Amino acid sequence: MPDRIIPLSSDTETTPSEEMRQAMAQAPVGDEQKGADPSVNALLERTCEILGKESALFLPSGVMCNAVALKTHTRPGDVVIAEHMTHIIRSEAGGAGICSGILLEPVVTPNGIFSADDVDQTLARISTAPVPYAPPARLLCFEQTHNFSGGTVWEYDQLQGAADRGRELGLATHMDGARLFNAVAATGVSAARFSACVDSVWVDFTKGLGAPLGAVLAGSREFIAEARRYKHAFGGAMRQAGIVAAGCLWALEHHLERIEQDHAHARLLSAGLGAIDGIGLLNPEPRTNIVFFDVSGLGLSPKRFTALLKDHGVEMSSIGGLVRAVTHLDVSRSDIHTALEAIQQLACRK
Ligand SMILES: *Cc1c(COP(=O)(O)O)cnc(C)c1O
Repeated sequence: MPDRIIPLSSDTETTPSEEMRQAMAQAPVGDEQKGADPSVNALLERTCEILGKESALFLPSGVMCNAVALKTHTRPGDVVIAEHMTHIIRSEAGGAGICSGILLEPVVTPNGIFSADDVDQTLARISTAPVPYAPPARLLCFEQTHNFSGGTVWEYDQLQGAADRGRELGLATHMDGARLFNAVAATGVSAARFSACVDSVWVDFTKGLGAPLGAVLAGSREFIAEARRYKHAFGGAMRQAGIVAAGCLWALEHHLERIEQDHAHARLLSAGLGAIDGIGLLNPEPRTNIVFFDVSGLGLSPKRFTALLKDHGVEMSSIGGLVRAVTHLDVSRSDIHTALEAIQQLACRK
């Protein structure tokens, strides 16, 4: 067994750097629940600036950001529209139903991105006529970047077009920005510009930014004032949370600039995989840090492939019948070469 496993299974596999740990150890702290933690407040202020929003909340996880946002935007029985392979639908343990009692209306797309016309068609399907039996459509959700399509990016015009149509039709808009900063690195469009398209947005400090935990949900002053109640109700109000927020602040100051390296590593991995017989790429030209591929041509199931690969010192994950590799700040260029060599060996063994 190799002494280090190359952690390509997810961009959440990062561990805090020595410098980040120092920043965390030295953080001034107070009672977060009372709004009196100076490190949390500094993080919120900085995140508001970056996202161009009035107000923000610190939460332990991205899932809780989605839960609090959905609860704040809706009442039980409302319809929330989201792409069919989004995290809100696929990966939150049914939380939208448990916490908010809403109906989810999926928009089916091949790549996670939908248009203003798709918004029209979805609303027409639900029925926008003022009839007493139609469930009221309330909220339109976006996932930037779209994880299960291979980190696909909403271009600014696509996002603005779909969000504007939603707003014209009376919907509130929400962005799951778990990887918003990857979209920023890929497009050169600022996080504030993307965020201006939607009423609420959150970013995750554990997705390729290297922090051990923490996410921030942002929106208007009124939205966040109401969301604060649900943060508390869902158990997301904390105490001396500045210890963690200081790690997030460190990530904002030091780890945004380097994200393009992760994208270059994903392109390198993808090009190498494309040259191996028996491997089929879902997204042959990855825009961001996620590569999905099919290994059935090697005569292996994704689970068998990832188990064998781990014996070769490389960890990837098996998701939806495919293998997923995600690059991040704890994976170097030479790690990508090592991973490709290991896969080449597996492919030759068949
Ligand atoms: C990881 C992820 C989440 C949830 O974030 P956590 O911090 O892990 O709770 C939500 N949406 C997307 C698109 C994600 O990739």
